[in-house]
Formats: sequence, structure tokens, C-alpha cells
Amino acid sequence: MNRLKKGLFLFCLLGLLASFAGCSQNENQSTEPVGKVYFNWFDTVSYVYSYAGDPAERFEELSAGVSGILTEYHQLFDIYHEYSGINNLCTVNRLAGGDPLPVDPKLIDFLLYAKDLYEKTDGEMNILLGSVLKIWHDHRTQALDDPSAAALPDQDALEEAARHTDISLLEIDAEKGTVRLADAAAAIDVGAVGKGYATEKAAEYLQQQGAASYVLNIGGNIRIIGQKPDGSGWNTAVKDPEDPENSYAAILKIADTACVTSGNYERFFAVSGKQYHHIIDPDTLWPAEYFASVTVVTRDSGLADVLSTALFCMSYEDGLALANALGGVDVLWIEHDGTLRYTDGLADKFTN
Ligand code: ADP
Ligand code: MG
Repeated sequence: MNRLKKGLFLFCLLGLLASFAGCSQNENQSTEPVGKVYFNWFDTVSYVYSYAGDPAERFEELSAGVSGILTEYHQLFDIYHEYSGINNLCTVNRLAGGDPLPVDPKLIDFLLYAKDLYEKTDGEMNILLGSVLKIWHDHRTQALDDPSAAALPDQDALEEAARHTDISLLEIDAEKGTVRLADAAAAIDVGAVGKGYATEKAAEYLQQQGAASYVLNIGGNIRIIGQKPDGSGWNTAVKDPEDPENSYAAILKIADTACVTSGNYERFFAVSGKQYHHIIDPDTLWPAEYFASVTVVTRDSGLADVLSTALFCMSYEDGLALANALGGVDVLWIEHDGTLRYTDGLADKFTN
């Protein structure tokens, strides 16, 4: 399939940018979309759009609700900062090896979910990979700060860190509402699942409020609530891994679903001309090399996020088998040479 050039489509979702200027000025009822941009969640840029033609007050109320939910999950999932009055994942990591820590029931629910998905993905998405991911994170930061100091992690250090990644080290007592890491060297990292999970909670809220024709783009995690008022879907672009800033590999017309991509171009550093990205294969402890990107389209944004990472870390055959076993999951794999492979359910979604 040909790569599409940026000039055709300015933004992740067609038409959104053009209408963004009208943001929150929707005084009269119209079907012109309105949107808001946020910079405060998950170290990334997020957007909330309504195509519903709601009065301005309703959009303000619903986007404020979404904002409250995402802010709360952002704080609970933050592994770099603690916040007064809450025990979050940073606290859990800091107290690793210590006593059980009382946490918000929302964090318990999330950790149970992540543990369940560890099992379902055969360990390819593992939130207990924190000790290994920290090594990669530190090397990436060092290389980006000073490219002349760019270096690869030490294999022995990676293997030592991997001895502290067993999912059973995460002890959850749902009745008592406590969490404990049973090993002082273990650490949680929810980069592969937190954004998608929180996005789904925001989508659930919108649905409970009777909202439809809303689009959430939370740091690239797309969650579409309902259809456009005319019953159609939204053209959603999947970046071309070879030129992610300027061209797209596919445009999918989708509605009432989530769309999440994991790509080797998102965060990386280079050593001796070779790039090392941020999605680590638990089997090798090195950046997964199966694909350039994997896009998952399924209704639940949390599942889409988990699977985009997990399928990035397994072969096409294993990923296809997992998608089929779960049901309701469509996948677009982009190989290193640009070849697209996709599940049958996507065949009629391509608009290019
Ligand atoms: P993005 O953060 O770019 O949306 P992903 O959803 O694939 O992409 O998440 C990647 C992040 O997840 C990494 O930055 C890291 O924090 C974490 N991570 C990397 N590999 C794994 C893995 N195999 N299992 C769980 N988490 C991972
Ligand atoms: Mg993910």
C-alpha cells in the first residue's frame, strides 16, 4: 500500500484540527465539532472532542468530568512523583520490600486488571518489568542528553534486574485494600497500559452521561464514543513508521471503538547508528524486533493499549492467535519493510 503524504491529512483524525479553532466557543447548537487540549496527563498531549452539537455548557461539563478522571488516574499511576494525601505507584515502588500499603480501590482494580492481562498475554505485557525498564530509561535519557555518551545497557545488569520482575512479587489484598511489592528491587511501570486504562474510564463516564459522538485522543490512545451524528465513522490515521512526522501508512474509518498503536519510532536513542526504542521484549530484555508498529482496534481502550505493546513483543502468528482467542480484536501489523498485515475485520475499514 502506498504511503500517504502529510498534506492530505493534517492531523490524527480528519478534520479535527480545522475545527479545533472553534474550541469551547460553541454557543449555538451545531454539529461543528468542539475540542479542548490538555498537557497535564501522562507526559503527553491529549484532546477531547465532541461532534454531538451539544450546547457549550454540556461540553464544558462533560470535558470537566473527563479531565477530573484523567487527572486522578494520572496521579495514581505516576511513578516519578508522589502527591499529598494519596499513596500512588511511586509510593508503592518506594516502599518495595516493606509493609502492605493501603491504596485507593481504583488502584487495586487497575493492578488486578494488569495482572490478569499479564496472564492473557503470556507475560509479554508485564507491569513488573520496572527494574529492567529503568535501565533502558536511564540509558535513553543519558544518550539524549549527551549523544557522545550514548551507551548500551550491560547484559549482566539487565539479567540481574530481570530477577526482580516476577508478577507474583506484586501482592494485592483486595479485601484489605493494600498492595505490596515483595522484593525491594522490584518496580512497577505501567507505561504500556495506564493511559489506555484511564482513557477507558473516561469513556465509561461519557457513556454513563449519555454522550455520543465524542472522541478522546489521550496521548495517541484514540477512544471513539459512538458514531458521528450522520451515523458514519472517523478517519483515523496510522503513522508510517519510516516517516512518522510526515506520512501515514493507513487510514482506517472506525466508530465506537478504541485504536492504539505501539511503534518503534516513539521513543528511542541511537548507538553506533542503530536505534534502540522503548518497548522491551521480556524474553530478550532488549527492544522487541518483530515489527515497526502494531495497531490494535478493539472497543476497550485499556485492552487496546495492553495488546498493542504485547503483540509488538510476539510473532505475527502468536499475535493473530491471541487476537482471535480474545475475540473482537483487530490488528494492523507494519513490518520493517513497510508491508502491512491485518486481521479480516479491518479489510473494509481502509479508506486509502
Ligand atoms: P507508548 O507509551 O508509546 O504509547 P506502549 O503502550 O507500547 O507505547 O508502552 C510502552 C511503555 O511501556 C514503555 O515506555 C515502558 O514504560 C513500558 N514497557 C515497555 N515494554 C514493556 C513490556 N514488554 N511490558 C510492559 N511494559 C512495557
Ligand atoms: Mg500499550
